[in-house]
Amino acid sequence: MPGEVYLVGAGPGDIGLITVRGMELVRCADVIVYDQLANPELLDHARPEAKLIDVGKEGGHHKVRQEGINDIIIEEARAGRMIVRLKGGDPFMFGRGGEEAEELRKADIKVHVVPGVTSAIAAPAMAGIPVTHRDHAPMVTFVTGHERDDRPDGRINWEALANTGGTIVILMGMANLAQNMSRLVKGGMSPNTPVAVVHRGSTPSQIVVLSTLDDIAEKCRSQKVGSPAVVVVGGVVSLHDVLGDLR
Ligand code: SAH
Repeated sequence: MPGEVYLVGAGPGDIGLITVRGMELVRCADVIVYDQLANPELLDHARPEAKLIDVGKEGGHHKVRQEGINDIIIEEARAGRMIVRLKGGDPFMFGRGGEEAEELRKADIKVHVVPGVTSAIAAPAMAGIPVTHRDHAPMVTFVTGHERDDRPDGRINWEALANTGGTIVILMGMANLAQNMSRLVKGGMSPNTPVAVVHRGSTPSQIVVLSTLDDIAEKCRSQKVGSPAVVVVGGVVSLHDVLGDLR
């Protein structure tokens, strides 16, 4: 009998923010294949005989290439094992969980998903920034700051994004921060629009940098704040002043 694969969201970092279902699966897995963004303390809950495989991916540094990750999972599943593929945040919010699920389906392996608490919502929340609010933002857009390298022309219409009237939440946004902020200004947003960068949200090392579209990149550079971080653009950022740190 081939094994089954569970794509499990590990949550944004705080170990308490994995789901009950996710933790149950971590406790009984034969194999756990995990990313760098998943809190390593979760692995303390694995069975002592479980095989733990680090395929750490962060900011373009891949210990194992994506095809390699899929091959490892497929091989383990064919050997009849129960596999937890532990991914930071929610498995289907960026991070290529959808692609992994497709590959497993193609290989005729049973795959399940256990959604997680995404950093896209949780990191701002922990910094006192609700991504929607009746007074500030009736909608929110989640966008990657870093399109795939094989599509240099880009499919994201930053000008349109500048005109949604809602909050913009950018993941993987630190490498191209200055460029993307100026695209929003070119699209018509005020250079004074508030921006927050939340680094390692929900963890003890959470850092929040507050500024504006025309200054946030410089401020992050001078304070040496980089990935992993969520960038939040829009009026909701001002709520941080009222709500503060909500960890
Ligand atoms: N599936 C993940 C996102 C994977 S893409 C999720 O749902 O959260 C990786 C990006 O997630 C990082 O570049 C960063 O933008 C964001 N990220 C993940 N964990 C984070 C955290 N604790 N604090 C801030 N940003 C985080």
